[in-house]
Amino acid sequence: MTNKYMYFIANWKMFGSLKSLNSLHKVLKFFKTFRKKRNSKLIYCPPNTLILPLSKKLRNSPIEVGAQNCHENDYFGAFTGSVNSKMLKDVGAKYVIIGHSENRANGETNKLINLKIKSAQKSGLKIIFCIGETIQEKRKKITKKVLEKQLSLGLHKIKNRKNILIAYEPVWSIGTGIIPKSHELLDTINFIKKKYKNFKVLYGGSVSPKNINEIKSINNIDGFLIGGASQDPKKFIDIIKKTYN
Ligand code: PEP
Repeated sequence: MTNKYMYFIANWKMFGSLKSLNSLHKVLKFFKTFRKKRNSKLIYCPPNTLILPLSKKLRNSPIEVGAQNCHENDYFGAFTGSVNSKMLKDVGAKYVIIGHSENRANGETNKLINLKIKSAQKSGLKIIFCIGETIQEKRKKITKKVLEKQLSLGLHKIKNRKNILIAYEPVWSIGTGIIPKSHELLDTINFIKKKYKNFKVLYGGSVSPKNINEIKSINNIDGFLIGGASQDPKKFIDIIKKTYN
């Protein structure tokens, strides 16, 4: 896997303050030289409050900025508390995570996710489209059926799929420290890639410096969506370095 183009996407969830952006100079310094040796993409998805200051900080740098969700309408309107893809683009986001399990758990349906993807595309954002099964679905051995449904409904009537990355994130692995068995992950990612050719497929769920050596050996993964560990610059850098070692 050493020379493969890899994505490293930081999902900060509802963490981070203006002060916490100061710690990113370490990552920026590291990545400026690292990417000359290793072909890779680094994207930070902070909470909406930090998109503008982070975009300013990273202007003319190789690191890009994304958002964690968006409203399904790309037009402005009376939707108190919501932010649409156009607004995110306006403050510097280039990507948006859509379909994260934490939002699915709050009632986000496949249909809504499909509308959000379409709206983000219309605004010119690239999409990190999250899919994944719950522990109950895994136990019932219906993982592939669940993923197939999430993919087909989420991508319904979307012809241009070039700007979409798929992030396979088993729900039971997010924030738990538990990762799938290597052969299971290999098999699931192969399944996605066979059905949806030409897609880059990332893995997300408890990626850390401790388990990255195990996960990176699965050679069909195109990168990682990283939650907890991405908030610690040292751990994040460690994950990136170890991926290529
Ligand atoms: C995530 O939130 O997408 C995620 C993968 O979180 P963690 O790395 O903390 O499991």
